[in-house]
Amino acid sequence: MSSVLTALTDALADGSVEVVDLTARLSSETPVIQLPPEFGQTARFELEEISAYDDRGPAWYWNNFRSGEHTGTHFDAPCHWVTGRGGLDVASVPVGHLIRPAVVLDVSARVADDPDFLLEVDDITTWEQEHGPLPDGGWLLYRTGWDARSDSQERFTNADETGPHTPGMSPECARWVAEEAPVIGVGVETVGTDAGAAHSFDPPFPCHASLMGSGKYGLTQLQNLASLPPTGAVLVVGPLPIVTGSGAPARAVALVER
Ligand code: MN
Repeated sequence: MSSVLTALTDALADGSVEVVDLTARLSSETPVIQLPPEFGQTARFELEEISAYDDRGPAWYWNNFRSGEHTGTHFDAPCHWVTGRGGLDVASVPVGHLIRPAVVLDVSARVADDPDFLLEVDDITTWEQEHGPLPDGGWLLYRTGWDARSDSQERFTNADETGPHTPGMSPECARWVAEEAPVIGVGVETVGTDAGAAHSFDPPFPCHASLMGSGKYGLTQLQNLASLPPTGAVLVVGPLPIVTGSGAPARAVALVER
């Protein structure tokens, strides 16, 4: 008899544990990252109808789809970045890593006035003084309020002639989270774990460089982090197990005690 799992399913049934969906809807409208034109580009999500109860298949409806690995809410595997070259592909991520505790650090009030806001190590250590240490083997979820823009490619990427303007982490903070913090990954609401201006940082794209280089994970385009407590949630994330894949679209939910 497994009393722990029975207690969990009872709590899910009576609502004392709520399931919060953290996943962006996938459609051709889902915002995607746009790199400078000299680089390859990720595909938008696309559906191709195979049949819809018609002469192509009278009793069934189904589609093919095309998508970038890094389209919509998605998981970054260590091999995504050159610093993690030879590291785990998304199909090789241990399943035990897909259900882990998560904490939420909320800077949405500061980002509201500064879309280029960068999280610093001090912000995390200050948070830890109030809420306790980051979870060993868990996730740091970084709330910026950016999910409110997720219905618009233009507002989500927030680009002007100088490039995209979206919040992220300083290079020192990224290095600290990757090398000093006990978490296995960082989840964000933006199109990627790095700030929009991170192409100009030293090193460029420091979250990707540091996290992947340390064998850690990224999780992007999360929604509804406002519905999670600062501590105590459990993140359940299900990236598609694409063999050799650098990442994959993922369903992400959180279990929260009410
Ligand atoms: Mn990615």
